[in-house]
Amino acid sequence: MALAFDEFGRPFIILREQEKKSRLRGLDAQKANIAAGKAVARILRTSLGPKGMDKMLQSPDGDVTITNDGATILEQMDVDNQIAKLMVELSCSQDYEIGDGTTGVVVMAGSLLEQAEKLLERGIHPIRIAEGYELASRIAFDHLEHISHKFEFSATNIEPLVQTCMTTLSSKIVNRCKRTLAEIAVKAVLAVADLERKDVNLDLIKVEGKVGGKLEDTELVYGIIVDKDMSHPQMPKRIEDAKIAILTCPFEPPKPKTKHKVDIDTVEKFQMLREQEQKYFDEMVQKCKDVGATLVICQWGFDDEANHLLMHRNLPAVRWVGGVELELIAIATGGRIVPRFQELSPEKLGKAGIVREKSFGTTKDRMLYIEQCANSRAVTIFIRGGNKMMIEETKRSLHDALCVARNLIRNNSIVYGGGSAEISCSVAVEAAADRYPGVEQYAIRSFADALDAIPLALAENSGLSPIDTLTAVKSQQVKESNPHCGIDCNDVGTNHMKEQNVFETLIGKQQQILLATQVVKMILKIDDVISPSDY
Ligand code: ADP
Repeated sequence: MALAFDEFGRPFIILREQEKKSRLRGLDAQKANIAAGKAVARILRTSLGPKGMDKMLQSPDGDVTITNDGATILEQMDVDNQIAKLMVELSCSQDYEIGDGTTGVVVMAGSLLEQAEKLLERGIHPIRIAEGYELASRIAFDHLEHISHKFEFSATNIEPLVQTCMTTLSSKIVNRCKRTLAEIAVKAVLAVADLERKDVNLDLIKVEGKVGGKLEDTELVYGIIVDKDMSHPQMPKRIEDAKIAILTCPFEPPKPKTKHKVDIDTVEKFQMLREQEQKYFDEMVQKCKDVGATLVICQWGFDDEANHLLMHRNLPAVRWVGGVELELIAIATGGRIVPRFQELSPEKLGKAGIVREKSFGTTKDRMLYIEQCANSRAVTIFIRGGNKMMIEETKRSLHDALCVARNLIRNNSIVYGGGSAEISCSVAVEAAADRYPGVEQYAIRSFADALDAIPLALAENSGLSPIDTLTAVKSQQVKESNPHCGIDCNDVGTNHMKEQNVFETLIGKQQQILLATQVVKMILKIDDVISPSDY
Protein backbone atom coordinates (compact mmCIF):
# COMPACT_ATOMS: atom_id res chain seq x y z
CA MET A 1 0.00 0.00 0.00
CA ALA A 2 1.39 3.42 -0.87
CA LEU A 3 0.23 6.94 -0.26
CA ALA A 4 0.25 9.21 -3.31
CA PHE A 5 -1.03 12.71 -4.08
CA ASP A 6 -2.99 13.91 -7.07
CA GLU A 7 -2.37 17.19 -8.89
CA PHE A 8 -4.42 19.10 -6.31
CA GLY A 9 -2.46 17.69 -3.45
CA ARG A 10 -5.24 15.37 -2.26
CA PRO A 11 -3.92 12.14 -0.83
CA PHE A 12 -5.00 8.76 -2.12
CA ILE A 13 -3.96 5.22 -1.45
CA ILE A 14 -2.67 2.80 -4.04
CA LEU A 15 -3.54 -0.77 -3.12
CA ARG A 16 -0.66 -2.80 -4.48
CA GLU A 17 -2.31 -6.05 -3.37
CA GLN A 18 -4.71 -5.69 -6.25
CA GLU A 19 -1.98 -6.91 -8.54
CA LYS A 20 -1.70 -10.10 -6.57
CA LYS A 21 -5.36 -10.86 -6.99
CA SER A 22 -6.60 -13.05 -9.76
CA ARG A 23 -9.59 -11.87 -11.63
CA LEU A 24 -12.11 -13.58 -13.85
CA ARG A 25 -14.47 -11.52 -15.92
CA GLY A 26 -17.51 -11.97 -18.12
CA LEU A 27 -18.16 -15.34 -19.60
CA ASP A 28 -15.07 -16.84 -17.97
CA ALA A 29 -16.42 -15.89 -14.56
CA GLN A 30 -19.80 -17.42 -15.29
CA LYS A 31 -18.28 -20.59 -16.66
CA ALA A 32 -15.97 -21.03 -13.68
CA ASN A 33 -18.87 -20.52 -11.29
CA ILE A 34 -21.09 -22.92 -13.16
CA ALA A 35 -18.35 -25.53 -13.11
CA ALA A 36 -18.04 -25.19 -9.34
CA GLY A 37 -21.81 -25.47 -8.80
CA LYS A 38 -22.04 -28.46 -11.09
CA ALA A 39 -19.21 -30.21 -9.27
CA VAL A 40 -21.13 -30.04 -6.00
CA ALA A 41 -24.35 -31.24 -7.62
CA ARG A 42 -22.52 -34.15 -9.21
CA ILE A 43 -21.48 -35.40 -5.78
CA LEU A 44 -25.05 -35.49 -4.55
CA ARG A 45 -26.61 -36.86 -7.70
CA THR A 46 -25.75 -40.47 -6.89
CA SER A 47 -27.37 -40.14 -3.45
CA LEU A 48 -30.82 -39.27 -4.76
CA GLY A 49 -33.73 -41.62 -4.35
CA PRO A 50 -34.54 -44.90 -2.67
CA LYS A 51 -31.59 -46.64 -4.32
CA GLY A 52 -29.21 -43.72 -3.83
CA MET A 53 -25.70 -44.33 -2.59
CA ASP A 54 -24.42 -43.24 0.80
CA LYS A 55 -21.39 -41.10 1.44
CA MET A 56 -18.77 -41.65 4.06
CA LEU A 57 -17.24 -38.50 5.44
CA GLN A 58 -14.36 -38.24 7.82
CA SER A 59 -13.95 -35.13 9.92
CA PRO A 60 -10.49 -33.72 10.73
CA ASP A 61 -10.65 -35.29 14.18
CA GLY A 62 -11.37 -38.72 12.76
CA ASP A 63 -15.14 -38.94 13.31
CA VAL A 64 -16.83 -40.87 10.55
CA THR A 65 -20.31 -40.08 9.29
CA ILE A 66 -22.19 -42.28 6.84
CA THR A 67 -25.25 -40.64 5.36
CA ASN A 68 -27.23 -39.95 2.23
CA ASP A 69 -28.87 -36.81 3.52
CA GLY A 70 -27.91 -33.99 1.17
CA ALA A 71 -27.69 -31.26 3.79
CA THR A 72 -25.47 -33.36 6.05
CA ILE A 73 -23.12 -34.39 3.25
CA LEU A 74 -22.61 -30.80 2.17
CA GLU A 75 -22.31 -29.46 5.70
CA GLN A 76 -19.54 -31.91 6.50
CA MET A 77 -17.67 -31.38 3.28
CA ASP A 78 -14.96 -28.81 3.65
CA VAL A 79 -15.64 -26.70 0.58
CA ASP A 80 -13.42 -23.76 -0.21
CA ASN A 81 -15.01 -22.37 -3.30
CA GLN A 82 -17.53 -19.60 -2.68
CA ILE A 83 -19.98 -20.82 -5.30
CA ALA A 84 -19.80 -24.30 -3.87
CA LYS A 85 -20.60 -22.71 -0.51
CA LEU A 86 -23.72 -21.19 -2.05
CA MET A 87 -24.86 -24.68 -3.01
CA VAL A 88 -24.22 -25.82 0.55
CA GLU A 89 -26.36 -22.98 1.81
CA LEU A 90 -29.03 -23.86 -0.71
CA SER A 91 -29.30 -27.31 0.76
CA CYS A 92 -29.31 -25.89 4.29
CA SER A 93 -32.12 -23.47 3.54
CA GLN A 94 -34.24 -26.29 2.14
CA ASP A 95 -33.45 -28.21 5.31
CA TYR A 96 -34.35 -25.25 7.48
CA GLU A 97 -37.59 -24.36 5.71
CA ILE A 98 -38.87 -27.78 4.79
CA GLY A 99 -36.58 -30.40 6.28
CA ASP A 100 -36.73 -32.78 3.33
CA GLY A 101 -35.69 -32.71 -0.32
CA THR A 102 -32.20 -31.44 0.43
CA THR A 103 -30.54 -33.66 -2.16
CA GLY A 104 -33.12 -32.96 -4.83
CA VAL A 105 -32.75 -29.20 -4.59
CA VAL A 106 -29.00 -29.33 -5.25
CA VAL A 107 -29.37 -31.79 -8.13
CA MET A 108 -31.99 -29.48 -9.61
CA ALA A 109 -29.75 -26.42 -9.25
CA GLY A 110 -26.82 -28.33 -10.81
CA SER A 111 -28.94 -29.28 -13.77
CA LEU A 112 -30.18 -25.70 -14.25
CA LEU A 113 -26.55 -24.55 -14.28
CA GLU A 114 -25.65 -27.19 -16.83
CA GLN A 115 -28.42 -26.02 -19.12
CA ALA A 116 -27.43 -22.38 -18.59
CA GLU A 117 -23.90 -23.18 -19.71
CA LYS A 118 -25.20 -24.47 -23.01
CA LEU A 119 -27.27 -21.32 -23.50
CA LEU A 120 -24.28 -19.11 -22.70
CA GLU A 121 -22.28 -20.94 -25.33
CA ARG A 122 -24.99 -20.17 -27.82
CA GLY A 123 -24.50 -16.50 -27.05
CA ILE A 124 -27.59 -15.81 -24.95
CA HIS A 125 -27.05 -13.13 -22.35
CA PRO A 126 -27.04 -14.35 -18.74
CA ILE A 127 -29.74 -11.88 -17.75
CA ARG A 128 -32.07 -13.24 -20.39
CA ILE A 129 -31.40 -16.74 -19.12
CA ALA A 130 -32.13 -15.62 -15.56
CA GLU A 131 -35.39 -14.01 -16.66
CA GLY A 132 -36.43 -17.09 -18.59
CA TYR A 133 -35.69 -19.30 -15.60
CA GLU A 134 -37.76 -17.03 -13.39
CA LEU A 135 -40.75 -17.25 -15.75
CA ALA A 136 -40.38 -21.00 -16.05
CA SER A 137 -40.12 -21.48 -12.30
CA ARG A 138 -43.39 -19.64 -11.84
CA ILE A 139 -45.06 -21.85 -14.44
CA ALA A 140 -43.74 -24.95 -12.69
CA PHE A 141 -44.80 -23.58 -9.29
CA ASP A 142 -48.38 -23.05 -10.45
CA HIS A 143 -48.46 -26.35 -12.26
CA LEU A 144 -47.46 -28.17 -9.09
CA GLU A 145 -50.41 -26.59 -7.33
CA HIS A 146 -52.61 -27.74 -10.20
CA ILE A 147 -51.55 -31.40 -10.00
CA SER A 148 -51.53 -31.52 -6.22
CA HIS A 149 -54.05 -33.37 -4.12
CA LYS A 150 -55.60 -32.60 -0.81
CA PHE A 151 -54.95 -35.37 1.50
CA GLU A 152 -57.20 -36.29 4.35
CA PHE A 153 -56.10 -37.49 7.71
CA SER A 154 -57.21 -37.07 11.27
CA ALA A 155 -55.89 -37.86 14.70
CA THR A 156 -57.63 -41.24 14.44
CA ASN A 157 -56.70 -41.99 10.84
CA ILE A 158 -52.96 -41.55 10.67
CA GLU A 159 -52.27 -44.04 7.90
CA PRO A 160 -51.91 -41.43 5.11
CA LEU A 161 -49.36 -39.52 7.18
CA VAL A 162 -47.45 -42.71 7.90
CA GLN A 163 -47.35 -43.54 4.18
CA THR A 164 -45.85 -40.16 3.35
CA CYS A 165 -43.21 -40.42 6.03
CA MET A 166 -42.39 -43.89 4.68
CA THR A 167 -41.59 -42.35 1.28
CA THR A 168 -39.07 -40.09 2.95
CA LEU A 169 -37.52 -42.90 4.93
CA SER A 170 -37.40 -45.30 2.01
CA SER A 171 -34.38 -43.53 0.57
CA LYS A 172 -32.44 -43.67 3.83
CA ILE A 173 -30.18 -46.29 5.32
CA VAL A 174 -32.85 -47.09 7.89
CA ASN A 175 -35.44 -48.16 5.30
CA ARG A 176 -35.45 -51.67 6.81
CA CYS A 177 -37.61 -50.31 9.63
CA LYS A 178 -39.37 -47.56 7.76
CA ARG A 179 -42.85 -48.60 8.91
CA THR A 180 -41.94 -48.56 12.60
CA LEU A 181 -40.02 -45.32 12.34
CA ALA A 182 -42.71 -43.61 10.25
CA GLU A 183 -45.36 -44.54 12.82
CA ILE A 184 -43.19 -43.25 15.63
CA ALA A 185 -42.56 -39.98 13.78
CA VAL A 186 -46.25 -39.42 13.06
CA LYS A 187 -47.36 -40.23 16.61
CA ALA A 188 -44.67 -37.94 17.99
CA VAL A 189 -45.72 -35.06 15.75
CA LEU A 190 -49.40 -35.57 16.55
CA ALA A 191 -48.60 -35.58 20.26
CA VAL A 192 -47.12 -32.10 20.06
CA ALA A 193 -49.34 -30.75 17.26
CA ASP A 194 -52.15 -28.31 17.55
CA LEU A 195 -54.40 -29.55 14.74
CA GLU A 196 -56.81 -26.62 14.99
CA ARG A 197 -54.15 -23.98 14.59
CA LYS A 198 -52.22 -26.24 12.21
CA ASP A 199 -49.11 -25.70 14.19
CA VAL A 200 -46.40 -28.07 15.33
CA ASN A 201 -43.58 -27.23 17.67
CA LEU A 202 -40.86 -29.71 16.82
CA ASP A 203 -38.76 -28.46 19.75
CA LEU A 204 -41.03 -30.45 22.03
CA ILE A 205 -39.83 -33.67 20.44
CA LYS A 206 -36.60 -34.84 21.94
CA VAL A 207 -34.60 -37.40 20.03
CA GLU A 208 -32.31 -39.45 22.21
CA GLY A 209 -30.16 -42.39 21.18
CA LYS A 210 -28.23 -45.08 22.94
CA VAL A 211 -25.92 -47.63 21.40
CA GLY A 212 -27.16 -51.17 21.89
CA GLY A 213 -30.24 -53.18 21.06
CA LYS A 214 -31.80 -53.22 17.63
CA LEU A 215 -33.20 -50.49 15.43
CA GLU A 216 -36.60 -52.19 15.88
CA ASP A 217 -36.40 -51.45 19.61
CA THR A 218 -36.66 -47.73 18.90
CA GLU A 219 -39.60 -46.45 20.90
CA LEU A 220 -41.71 -43.39 21.48
CA VAL A 221 -41.97 -42.33 25.08
CA TYR A 222 -44.71 -39.96 26.12
CA GLY A 223 -42.46 -38.05 28.43
CA ILE A 224 -38.80 -37.24 28.71
CA ILE A 225 -35.80 -39.52 28.79
CA VAL A 226 -32.61 -38.23 30.31
CA ASP A 227 -29.29 -39.96 29.87
CA LYS A 228 -28.58 -39.80 33.61
CA ASP A 229 -29.26 -41.93 36.64
CA MET A 230 -30.01 -41.36 40.32
CA SER A 231 -26.99 -39.88 41.99
CA HIS A 232 -26.74 -42.73 44.51
CA PRO A 233 -27.22 -46.40 43.67
CA GLN A 234 -29.33 -46.95 46.76
CA MET A 235 -31.86 -44.31 45.94
CA PRO A 236 -35.26 -45.63 44.79
CA LYS A 237 -35.39 -46.66 41.14
CA ARG A 238 -39.04 -45.80 40.74
CA ILE A 239 -40.96 -42.85 42.10
CA GLU A 240 -44.68 -42.57 41.64
CA ASP A 241 -46.52 -39.26 41.64
CA ALA A 242 -43.22 -37.48 41.66
CA LYS A 243 -43.03 -33.80 42.60
CA ILE A 244 -39.88 -32.55 40.97
CA ALA A 245 -37.74 -29.59 41.99
CA ILE A 246 -35.83 -28.41 38.93
CA LEU A 247 -32.76 -26.49 40.06
CA THR A 248 -30.24 -24.53 38.07
CA CYS A 249 -28.58 -23.30 41.26
CA PRO A 250 -25.92 -25.24 43.12
CA PHE A 251 -27.35 -27.81 45.45
CA GLU A 252 -24.61 -28.29 47.99
CA PRO A 253 -23.04 -26.52 50.93
CA PRO A 254 -21.53 -23.21 49.85
CA LYS A 255 -17.85 -23.49 49.08
CA PRO A 256 -15.56 -20.80 50.44
CA LYS A 257 -14.90 -18.49 47.54
CA THR A 258 -11.31 -17.54 46.77
CA LYS A 259 -11.95 -13.97 47.89
CA HIS A 260 -12.58 -15.00 51.47
CA LYS A 261 -10.00 -16.36 53.75
CA VAL A 262 -10.77 -19.04 56.29
CA ASP A 263 -8.11 -19.86 58.77
CA ILE A 264 -8.34 -23.39 59.99
CA ASP A 265 -5.51 -24.22 62.29
CA THR A 266 -7.06 -26.70 64.64
CA VAL A 267 -9.01 -29.91 64.28
CA GLU A 268 -11.90 -28.33 66.21
CA LYS A 269 -12.20 -25.49 63.77
CA PHE A 270 -12.24 -27.93 60.88
CA GLN A 271 -14.92 -29.96 62.62
CA MET A 272 -16.91 -26.82 63.18
CA LEU A 273 -16.69 -25.80 59.56
CA ARG A 274 -17.77 -29.24 58.48
CA GLU A 275 -20.71 -29.24 60.82
CA GLN A 276 -21.70 -25.81 59.60
CA GLU A 277 -21.60 -26.93 56.01
CA GLN A 278 -23.54 -30.05 56.81
CA LYS A 279 -26.13 -28.08 58.72
CA TYR A 280 -26.50 -25.69 55.82
CA PHE A 281 -27.03 -28.52 53.39
CA ASP A 282 -29.36 -30.24 55.79
CA GLU A 283 -31.48 -27.13 55.81
CA MET A 284 -31.53 -27.12 52.01
CA VAL A 285 -32.71 -30.71 51.98
CA GLN A 286 -35.32 -29.88 54.59
CA LYS A 287 -36.54 -26.96 52.50
CA CYS A 288 -37.00 -29.27 49.51
CA LYS A 289 -38.93 -31.69 51.68
CA ASP A 290 -41.02 -28.88 53.18
CA VAL A 291 -42.21 -27.69 49.79
CA GLY A 292 -43.15 -31.28 48.99
CA ALA A 293 -40.45 -32.28 46.48
CA THR A 294 -39.89 -36.01 46.12
CA LEU A 295 -37.17 -35.71 43.49
CA VAL A 296 -34.54 -33.07 42.80
CA ILE A 297 -33.09 -32.59 39.34
CA CYS A 298 -30.04 -30.33 39.30
CA GLN A 299 -27.98 -28.74 36.61
CA TRP A 300 -24.92 -28.80 38.83
CA GLY A 301 -23.23 -31.58 40.71
CA PHE A 302 -22.86 -32.16 44.41
CA ASP A 303 -20.10 -33.99 46.21
CA ASP A 304 -20.17 -37.47 47.67
CA GLU A 305 -20.92 -36.28 51.14
CA ALA A 306 -23.98 -34.37 50.00
CA ASN A 307 -24.98 -37.37 47.94
CA HIS A 308 -24.75 -39.61 50.96
CA LEU A 309 -26.81 -37.22 53.00
CA LEU A 310 -29.48 -37.04 50.34
CA MET A 311 -29.70 -40.81 50.32
CA HIS A 312 -30.03 -40.79 54.13
CA ARG A 313 -32.71 -38.16 54.12
CA ASN A 314 -34.52 -40.15 51.47
CA LEU A 315 -34.55 -37.44 48.82
CA PRO A 316 -33.64 -38.91 45.43
CA ALA A 317 -31.64 -36.61 43.19
CA VAL A 318 -30.25 -36.49 39.68
CA ARG A 319 -27.22 -34.34 38.94
CA TRP A 320 -25.51 -32.84 35.89
CA VAL A 321 -28.62 -32.57 33.75
CA GLY A 322 -28.13 -30.34 30.68
CA GLY A 323 -29.88 -27.01 30.22
CA VAL A 324 -31.95 -28.02 27.20
CA GLU A 325 -33.12 -31.13 28.98
CA LEU A 326 -34.04 -29.15 32.07
CA GLU A 327 -36.17 -26.88 29.94
CA LEU A 328 -37.95 -29.82 28.35
CA ILE A 329 -38.50 -31.42 31.75
CA ALA A 330 -39.96 -28.16 32.99
CA ILE A 331 -42.32 -27.94 29.99
CA ALA A 332 -43.38 -31.56 30.25
CA THR A 333 -43.95 -31.65 33.99
CA GLY A 334 -45.48 -28.19 34.17
CA GLY A 335 -42.80 -27.12 36.63
CA ARG A 336 -40.67 -24.01 36.81
CA ILE A 337 -36.91 -23.86 36.68
CA VAL A 338 -35.60 -22.53 39.98
CA PRO A 339 -32.50 -20.39 39.54
CA ARG A 340 -32.16 -19.36 43.22
CA PHE A 341 -32.65 -21.83 45.95
CA GLN A 342 -34.56 -19.39 48.16
CA GLU A 343 -37.22 -19.16 45.46
CA LEU A 344 -38.20 -22.81 45.69
CA SER A 345 -41.91 -23.05 46.41
CA PRO A 346 -44.61 -25.75 46.08
CA GLU A 347 -46.18 -24.32 42.93
CA LYS A 348 -42.85 -24.44 41.11
CA LEU A 349 -42.60 -28.20 41.37
CA GLY A 350 -43.11 -30.28 38.23
CA LYS A 351 -45.44 -33.27 38.37
CA ALA A 352 -44.94 -36.65 36.77
CA GLY A 353 -46.90 -39.88 37.22
CA ILE A 354 -43.85 -42.09 37.14
CA VAL A 355 -40.14 -41.41 37.20
CA ARG A 356 -38.16 -44.59 36.75
CA GLU A 357 -34.64 -45.63 36.10
CA LYS A 358 -34.19 -48.20 33.38
CA SER A 359 -31.02 -50.17 32.89
CA PHE A 360 -29.94 -51.65 29.63
CA GLY A 361 -28.50 -55.13 29.25
CA THR A 362 -25.73 -56.07 31.57
CA THR A 363 -23.97 -52.78 31.24
CA LYS A 364 -24.08 -50.05 33.81
CA ASP A 365 -25.97 -47.90 31.35
CA ARG A 366 -29.04 -46.42 32.91
CA MET A 367 -31.50 -43.82 31.75
CA LEU A 368 -34.14 -41.89 33.57
CA TYR A 369 -37.68 -42.04 32.21
CA ILE A 370 -40.03 -39.26 33.25
CA GLU A 371 -43.51 -40.33 32.17
CA GLN A 372 -47.18 -39.47 32.60
CA CYS A 373 -46.26 -35.85 32.87
CA ALA A 374 -48.72 -33.11 33.77
CA ASN A 375 -48.32 -31.63 30.32
CA SER A 376 -47.91 -34.68 28.13
CA ARG A 377 -47.07 -32.61 25.06
CA ALA A 378 -43.35 -33.20 25.22
CA VAL A 379 -42.30 -36.59 23.88
CA THR A 380 -39.04 -38.41 23.33
CA ILE A 381 -38.04 -40.73 20.55
CA PHE A 382 -35.55 -43.18 21.94
CA ILE A 383 -33.40 -44.70 19.22
CA ARG A 384 -31.53 -47.95 19.63
CA GLY A 385 -28.98 -49.24 17.18
CA GLY A 386 -25.82 -51.23 16.74
CA ASN A 387 -23.37 -48.37 16.61
CA LYS A 388 -23.09 -44.64 16.95
CA MET A 389 -23.07 -43.99 13.21
CA MET A 390 -26.34 -45.87 12.80
CA ILE A 391 -27.95 -43.88 15.59
CA GLU A 392 -26.77 -40.57 14.16
CA GLU A 393 -28.10 -41.46 10.70
CA THR A 394 -31.41 -42.60 12.22
CA LYS A 395 -31.65 -39.23 13.98
CA ARG A 396 -31.14 -37.42 10.67
CA SER A 397 -33.65 -39.62 8.87
CA LEU A 398 -36.22 -39.18 11.62
CA HIS A 399 -35.69 -35.43 11.43
CA ASP A 400 -36.74 -35.58 7.76
CA ALA A 401 -39.78 -37.72 8.58
CA LEU A 402 -40.82 -35.40 11.43
CA CYS A 403 -40.53 -32.40 9.14
CA VAL A 404 -42.65 -34.09 6.47
CA ALA A 405 -45.38 -34.87 8.99
CA ARG A 406 -45.22 -31.30 10.28
CA ASN A 407 -45.44 -29.88 6.76
CA LEU A 408 -48.52 -31.98 6.05
CA ILE A 409 -50.22 -30.73 9.17
CA ARG A 410 -49.44 -27.17 8.14
CA ASN A 411 -50.54 -27.72 4.56
CA ASN A 412 -52.14 -31.00 3.58
CA SER A 413 -51.45 -30.85 -0.16
CA ILE A 414 -49.27 -33.48 -1.74
CA VAL A 415 -47.76 -34.24 -5.11
CA TYR A 416 -46.56 -37.64 -6.22
CA GLY A 417 -42.88 -38.52 -6.05
CA GLY A 418 -40.55 -40.72 -8.04
CA GLY A 419 -39.89 -37.83 -10.40
CA SER A 420 -43.52 -37.78 -11.60
CA ALA A 421 -44.14 -34.20 -10.49
CA GLU A 422 -40.96 -33.02 -12.21
CA ILE A 423 -41.84 -34.81 -15.45
CA SER A 424 -45.30 -33.30 -15.40
CA CYS A 425 -43.86 -29.83 -14.77
CA SER A 426 -41.33 -30.34 -17.52
CA VAL A 427 -44.11 -31.10 -20.00
CA ALA A 428 -46.12 -28.09 -18.82
CA VAL A 429 -43.14 -25.71 -18.99
CA GLU A 430 -42.14 -26.97 -22.43
CA ALA A 431 -45.69 -26.39 -23.69
CA ALA A 432 -45.78 -22.90 -22.20
CA ALA A 433 -42.44 -21.93 -23.79
CA ASP A 434 -44.03 -21.28 -27.17
CA ARG A 435 -46.14 -18.53 -25.71
CA TYR A 436 -43.06 -16.37 -25.18
CA PRO A 437 -41.82 -14.62 -28.29
CA GLY A 438 -38.43 -13.47 -26.93
CA VAL A 439 -35.12 -15.17 -26.33
CA GLU A 440 -36.49 -16.26 -22.92
CA GLN A 441 -38.16 -19.06 -24.80
CA TYR A 442 -34.83 -20.88 -25.00
CA ALA A 443 -34.26 -20.48 -21.30
CA ILE A 444 -37.75 -21.74 -20.55
CA ARG A 445 -37.17 -24.83 -22.69
CA SER A 446 -33.86 -25.40 -20.94
CA PHE A 447 -35.65 -25.17 -17.63
CA ALA A 448 -37.97 -27.93 -18.79
CA ASP A 449 -34.94 -30.06 -19.71
CA ALA A 450 -33.36 -29.31 -16.35
CA LEU A 451 -36.46 -30.62 -14.56
CA ASP A 452 -35.81 -33.99 -16.18
CA ALA A 453 -32.61 -34.27 -14.17
CA ILE A 454 -34.47 -35.63 -11.12
CA PRO A 455 -36.21 -38.56 -12.87
CA LEU A 456 -33.01 -39.21 -14.84
CA ALA A 457 -30.96 -39.40 -11.65
CA LEU A 458 -33.57 -41.60 -9.96
CA ALA A 459 -33.54 -44.00 -12.91
CA GLU A 460 -29.77 -44.03 -13.16
CA ASN A 461 -29.32 -44.65 -9.46
CA SER A 462 -31.75 -47.56 -9.61
CA GLY A 463 -29.75 -49.25 -12.34
CA LEU A 464 -32.27 -48.48 -15.08
CA SER A 465 -31.40 -47.05 -18.44
CA PRO A 466 -32.07 -43.36 -17.74
CA ILE A 467 -33.04 -42.00 -21.14
CA ASP A 468 -35.17 -44.97 -22.16
CA THR A 469 -37.01 -44.95 -18.85
CA LEU A 470 -37.60 -41.21 -18.88
CA THR A 471 -38.90 -41.10 -22.43
CA ALA A 472 -41.22 -44.04 -21.79
CA VAL A 473 -42.64 -42.44 -18.63
CA LYS A 474 -42.97 -39.04 -20.23
CA SER A 475 -44.89 -40.35 -23.22
CA GLN A 476 -47.08 -42.40 -20.88
CA GLN A 477 -47.87 -39.26 -18.87
CA VAL A 478 -48.84 -37.37 -21.99
CA LYS A 479 -50.79 -40.27 -23.51
CA GLU A 480 -52.77 -41.05 -20.38
CA SER A 481 -52.77 -37.41 -19.23
CA ASN A 482 -51.80 -38.81 -15.89
CA PRO A 483 -49.26 -36.78 -13.92
CA HIS A 484 -48.73 -39.62 -11.45
CA CYS A 485 -46.42 -41.76 -13.56
CA GLY A 486 -42.90 -41.77 -12.25
CA ILE A 487 -39.80 -43.89 -12.07
CA ASP A 488 -40.35 -47.34 -10.64
CA CYS A 489 -37.14 -47.32 -8.64
CA ASN A 490 -37.92 -50.33 -6.50
CA ASP A 491 -39.09 -52.48 -9.41
CA VAL A 492 -42.57 -52.88 -7.96
CA GLY A 493 -44.07 -53.46 -11.38
CA THR A 494 -46.09 -50.27 -11.73
CA ASN A 495 -44.95 -46.74 -12.30
CA HIS A 496 -48.15 -45.21 -10.98
CA MET A 497 -46.84 -43.45 -7.94
CA LYS A 498 -50.32 -43.25 -6.48
CA GLU A 499 -50.45 -47.03 -6.34
CA GLN A 500 -46.95 -47.15 -4.90
CA ASN A 501 -47.92 -44.56 -2.27
CA VAL A 502 -44.92 -42.39 -3.03
CA PHE A 503 -45.93 -38.87 -1.97
CA GLU A 504 -44.10 -35.69 -1.28
CA THR A 505 -45.44 -32.49 0.21
CA LEU A 506 -46.49 -29.78 -2.22
CA ILE A 507 -44.73 -27.02 -0.29
CA GLY A 508 -41.52 -29.05 -0.23
CA LYS A 509 -41.49 -29.53 -3.97
CA GLN A 510 -42.43 -25.90 -4.66
CA GLN A 511 -39.70 -24.72 -2.34
CA GLN A 512 -37.15 -26.91 -4.15
CA ILE A 513 -37.96 -25.26 -7.47
CA LEU A 514 -37.99 -21.74 -6.05
CA LEU A 515 -34.75 -22.08 -4.11
CA ALA A 516 -32.87 -23.80 -6.94
CA THR A 517 -33.95 -21.10 -9.40
CA GLN A 518 -32.98 -18.30 -7.04
CA VAL A 519 -29.47 -19.63 -6.49
CA VAL A 520 -28.90 -20.28 -10.18
CA LYS A 521 -30.05 -16.76 -11.02
CA MET A 522 -27.67 -15.40 -8.43
CA ILE A 523 -24.76 -17.38 -9.86
CA LEU A 524 -25.56 -16.28 -13.41
CA LYS A 525 -25.54 -12.65 -12.44
CA ILE A 526 -21.95 -12.72 -11.20
CA ASP A 527 -19.65 -11.54 -13.96
CA ASP A 528 -16.56 -10.55 -12.05
CA VAL A 529 -14.74 -12.73 -9.59
CA ILE A 530 -11.86 -11.15 -7.69
CA SER A 531 -9.99 -13.46 -5.41
CA PRO A 532 -6.53 -13.72 -3.87
CA SER A 533 -4.36 -15.45 -6.45
CA ASP A 534 -3.01 -18.14 -4.16
CA TYR A 535 -6.59 -19.25 -3.76
P1 ADP B 1 -33.94 -35.76 -0.62
O1 ADP B 1 -32.83 -35.53 0.34
O2 ADP B 1 -34.00 -34.75 -1.70
O3 ADP B 1 -35.27 -36.03 0.02
P2 ADP B 1 -33.86 -38.53 -1.19
O4 ADP B 1 -32.59 -39.28 -1.34
O5 ADP B 1 -34.68 -38.70 0.03
O6 ADP B 1 -33.53 -37.03 -1.42
O7 ADP B 1 -34.74 -38.88 -2.47
C1 ADP B 1 -35.98 -38.33 -2.68
C2 ADP B 1 -36.47 -38.68 -4.05
O8 ADP B 1 -36.71 -40.07 -4.16
C3 ADP B 1 -37.77 -37.98 -4.31
O9 ADP B 1 -37.78 -37.46 -5.60
C4 ADP B 1 -38.79 -39.11 -4.17
O10 ADP B 1 -39.91 -38.87 -4.96
C5 ADP B 1 -38.02 -40.30 -4.63
N1 ADP B 1 -38.53 -41.55 -4.06
C6 ADP B 1 -38.59 -41.91 -2.76
N2 ADP B 1 -39.11 -43.13 -2.61
C7 ADP B 1 -39.38 -43.59 -3.85
C8 ADP B 1 -39.92 -44.82 -4.38
N3 ADP B 1 -40.29 -45.80 -3.59
N4 ADP B 1 -40.04 -44.93 -5.71
C9 ADP B 1 -39.65 -43.93 -6.52
N5 ADP B 1 -39.12 -42.77 -6.08
C10 ADP B 1 -38.99 -42.59 -4.77
